[in-house]
This record gives sequence, C-alpha cells and structure tokens, in this order.
Amino acid sequence: MEKTLIDQYGRTLNYLRLSVTDRCNFRCYYCMPEEGVNFVERKDLLTYEELEYLLAIFSEYGVNKVRITGGEPFVRKGIMDFLEKMSRMQGINQITVTSNGTLDRDQMIILKRLGIKKINISLDSLNRQRFFEITRRDKFDEVFQCILDLLGMGFDVKLNAVVADKKNISDILPFIELTKAYDLSVRFLEEMPFNGSGSFEVPKWNHVVLYEYIAAAYPNLIKLSDEKNSTSANYRIPGYKGSFGIIASFSRTFCGTCNRIRLSATGEFRTCLYGPANTNLRDVLRSGASREELIREIVLAVAKKEKDGFEAEARQAEAPKKSMSFLGG
Ligand code: SF4
Repeated sequence: MEKTLIDQYGRTLNYLRLSVTDRCNFRCYYCMPEEGVNFVERKDLLTYEELEYLLAIFSEYGVNKVRITGGEPFVRKGIMDFLEKMSRMQGINQITVTSNGTLDRDQMIILKRLGIKKINISLDSLNRQRFFEITRRDKFDEVFQCILDLLGMGFDVKLNAVVADKKNISDILPFIELTKAYDLSVRFLEEMPFNGSGSFEVPKWNHVVLYEYIAAAYPNLIKLSDEKNSTSANYRIPGYKGSFGIIASFSRTFCGTCNRIRLSATGEFRTCLYGPANTNLRDVLRSGASREELIREIVLAVAKKEKDGFEAEARQAEAPKKSMSFLGG
C-alpha cells in the first residue's frame, strides 16, 4: 500500500521545505536584526548524512517535492554535493531552491546539470539604495546579474518581494514593468512576524491593498489559473512576457490546501510555519531511535497538523517568534 502523510483535515503533505542552514550573508530587516541572530553551532546542524537519512524516510512516505532554503543555502559548505545526492534520490521528483541571489555561475551550471530548474530569488527592491537599506548589504548589482544569468540559462525564476510600508512601495509598479521584458514571475508577499526581534506590526499592505493598488495602475490585468496548493494568486498584464502574484503570507488565506511540512537545519519538524516545532528529528535520531520510531514521530506530528496558520500561531502565542533564517520560510 502506498505510504502517504495525510493530516486530520484530509490534506496530503507531500512538499517538504528543508532548511540546510540558519546562516545568511544578508541581514534583511524583516528576517533578522542588523547584528544577526545567535547562529547555531555546526555540531547542532543536521549533517548531510542525517539529512539524506531523513529525506529517504520522507520520500518513502510520499514527499515528492523538496524546497531547499536557509538562511542562505549556498553559504553552507558541501551544499552542491548534497544536492547532487538528493537529485539521485528515489521518489523526490522535484527539487527547488530559494536563495538571496548570491549563488555563483559555477553553482548555476551544477544546478542545471542536476535538473534543478526552479529557483526563487528574494529581491525586495529594484533600487540600489533601497536594496541596501532592506538587506544591509550593497549587493544589488550582483543579485540582479545573478537573476539575468539564471534567465539566460533557462531557469524558471520567481522573485519574492516582501512588501512593506515606508520600505519598498515605490518598487511595486517597477517590478510589474520588469515582467514586460522578462519571462519571470514576481510575487509580492505580505510581511510576516519572523524577524527575530519579537516586535511586529500587522502589515498595512496586505493582499487586498496590494491587489487594489496594482489593479488601479493596470485595469486590464488578467487572472491566471493557480497551481494546486499554490500560495500565490497569479496575474499577467496583457502583452507582458512574465507574470506576477500576490501571496497572503500573513493573512493566511491558502491554508485549506496546504501540503507543506518543514524541517529546520537543527531538526525542528513543523507542520506549520506559524506553529511551534512538533518534534526535533535530529534529537530523536541522535538518541539512537530506530527508523520505525522516527516514522512514528513524523506520522504523529502530521496527524495533529493545525487547521490553519492562526490555530498554529495560537499554539505558541507566548513564545517569541524565531527568525525566518532559522525557520527556513
Ligand atoms: S500558515 Fe501554516 S497551514 Fe497555512 S499554508 Fe502556511 S504552513 Fe500551511
């Protein structure tokens, strides 16, 4: 009988978001303070061998899509060899990556050879100065060149822009105009409370405000059909090569079709981004647990997956929210 991970609401969880490191070479204000966060020690990170072992279990239980995230995944030593091994694993038929756009050309060539074609690049501004203010790094030119290189090599590129008041509102329409010449998808995300500082204001620029702002500028925009389980509501401007999407990441309007589970670089297993860790698979593994015991931990956690991100958030109302670089997005 086919093994699958199904939660109490009948959702099949076949998409694992795997964070391979909490470290990053940027300091985006919506993710961590300028001074960074207390990054974990190498011994506390899941080793690549442990990651392979756990991935084999997840793929046996129907996980067929894995997104590699971080922090910034390409800052972890040995990541390309790990991706090579992953690309040969049974059952995982889609590997995608999220990066801040600091991967180099050699890494792009290897990704292409491994058949890893879909890559999300976090880019919140098309203006160098605002990019610097948001990321606290003067790397706009490098990141934009990386995007052009990826497009030139035929990658399926999505840009993720976290939209926030007084930060990058003046970038929204230029991002749409970017899709005129480039066949890529720009997604506008609501800000989320995972900034490692414990303080957060409900975003003024939510998915409704964003849509109305864009529709006012482009009354002829076309609604595109969205993929099953998509978090993004997608649109296109007639005649433009690319498309754009709006992700209600704080309003959480898409939880009913959620197929996602998450594993942090230190083994924290979450059934919802907004919820607490259900268990720590690294600790279970390192305690000498059998494969069956590990599977039981995963299946039990999945069975208790929350209805939505609000229910999940309520389960850890007291606890300060971790930085997105730790959670892996
Ligand atoms: S908020 Fe939680 S339940 Fe909702 S889509 Fe995200 S991970 Fe899934």
